Amino acid sequence: MFTRKNVYIYRSSNMPDEGWLHSCFHCYAITSHLLRIKKKITFNAIYNVEVYVCLHCRKKLSENDDLYATFYKRCKMYMKRNIQFY
Ligand SMILES: [Zn+2]
Repeated sequence: MFTRKNVYIYRSSNMPDEGWLHSCFHCYAITSHLLRIKKKITFNAIYNVEVYVCLHCRKKLSENDDLYATFYKRCKMYMKRNIQFY
């Protein structure tokens, strides 16, 4: 049976870890908006990785493929260093 796990990526800030407001991964503004960047299925779990991105950055990223590619690369590096999928 699969377990569903949500993993959230955001910049460190003075917001509490348990809260729903965090720092935008791109510009550090406080936001509640999420962007799913990865779905990973392992032998016993489904991981949804979502990154906090404010609406302003979401619009900029959706309009500029090069900017999105750089942003996604940064997210991938963060995931590689900080998230272990079991
Ligand atoms: Zn932002």
